[in-house]
Amino acid sequence: MTLSKSLYTRGIQCQKSLWLKKHNPSVLTLPDASAQAVFETGNVVGDLACELFPNGEAVPFSRDSDEMIATTKKWMDDGVQNIYEATFNYDGILVMVDILHVCEEGVSIYEVKSSTSVKDIYLHDVSIQYYVLKSLGFHVKSANVVHINSSYIRGDDLDLSELFSVADVTVEAVALQENILNVLGEFEACLSDKENEPDIEIGKHCKNPYECDAMEYCWREQRGIPEYSVFNIFNLGSKKQVELYAKGIVDIKEIPDDFTMTDKQSQAVKNYKSNETHIDREAIKAFINTLTYPIYHLDFETFQQAIPEFKGVSPFMQIPFQYSLHVEHEDGKLEHCEFLAQDGEDPKALLAQKLCEDIPCDVTVLAYNMGFEKGVIRKLATEYEELSPHLLAIHDNIKDLMTPFQQKHYVTSSMNGSYSIKYVLPALMPEMQNAYKQLDGVQNGGEAMNAFANMSKLGEVEKQRMRNSLLEYCKLDTLAMVLVLNKLKEDLNE
Ligand code: SF4
Repeated sequence: MTLSKSLYTRGIQCQKSLWLKKHNPSVLTLPDASAQAVFETGNVVGDLACELFPNGEAVPFSRDSDEMIATTKKWMDDGVQNIYEATFNYDGILVMVDILHVCEEGVSIYEVKSSTSVKDIYLHDVSIQYYVLKSLGFHVKSANVVHINSSYIRGDDLDLSELFSVADVTVEAVALQENILNVLGEFEACLSDKENEPDIEIGKHCKNPYECDAMEYCWREQRGIPEYSVFNIFNLGSKKQVELYAKGIVDIKEIPDDFTMTDKQSQAVKNYKSNETHIDREAIKAFINTLTYPIYHLDFETFQQAIPEFKGVSPFMQIPFQYSLHVEHEDGKLEHCEFLAQDGEDPKALLAQKLCEDIPCDVTVLAYNMGFEKGVIRKLATEYEELSPHLLAIHDNIKDLMTPFQQKHYVTSSMNGSYSIKYVLPALMPEMQNAYKQLDGVQNGGEAMNAFANMSKLGEVEKQRMRNSLLEYCKLDTLAMVLVLNKLKEDLNE
């Protein structure tokens, strides 16, 4: 059996996933743009972490792992103390150690992760490296996970010793050794049967620790689970979900009427089964009466940096770079303004300034899922003291257009139990069904985030095209809010 450490951790999550990757990879979903972005972030973080262990030598990547093993051996023979991507093979198990520190008494393993904590799956990742090195006769002094310290705030310069935390997981890696031979034995038995796919049920493991790339195959193709199913009503792995699945029930329509559910779950099931629209006009009227004209429909876009490039920024902090604002007057007149930062510079100060110019202190501001917008504004208010009173006034004036949908005052079966605007908009206005899909380049928040984060890599023409896409996307978000509010008002009069 030949196995890399990524295949090993894949097998730890699910042996069927390992088997599919080895014997039927065409059924796996290819990584999308956001998975690709996570991968690229990992590479950048990995390279930077090497600077914690300076003056080392990197083993160049080669499709021929023997070449990498030979280079590793050469660096070790030459007395190199820090080797990046040090490569070893024991009995078909191939591991590349992100950073191997070599000293007279032995070696230390450093596995670099671009997350902010040590997850259980990382321990398996480190443990298989420990197993290979130990089996090859090395004295492994320690095994460690190098991860991002989320409480780090960047100063003028990047302080790598503060940005990264090093967690010694030697005890955990050693504890896992006891079972590694059993695990490898199971993997070998599973993989040796190339004809028969393992019969493994779907479950919590399909999304934990990673969303499996075989879900389309196992869930949709093999088990026919619809896009909106009992899994949208009951948490994956919950007692009720498991109970229904054991009875072969995945379609919401098949949930027995006397099945015990919370009020929220019952309401969602009832709406779906009856195909009816439920409108609580009194509650919606009460919500609309809290709004005064002109109404400022606001939506932010943010991005994150694993390695903060700007002073005062923490790893993975939501950094606002764009907003769209539709100003709706009582007579129906609409005005639009917007802000989109230049890439490569800290956008927060200019954005905060422009926001205060565009939104007066004493108007109704409407957001969809206001917790996000409020959080962004609170952070800006903390950072820009002179703008703080104005920003906090905007913050306090925000109302949430999501409320009528979240509180189930307006529910249609096509909302699929969701109150996200991406479901609410087409449910209320079927003519808007394809509005986001028709946008060029940027069609959701994740794409907007990636587009802005990668903008500096683009040439001028491509950059301008992407900026236009971002502007169109964000503008549609606030226009959607205007349309949703107007539809709520219209339905009150029916
Ligand atoms: S979708 Fe679930 S059952 Fe299928 S391979 Fe992935 S983890 Fe295993």
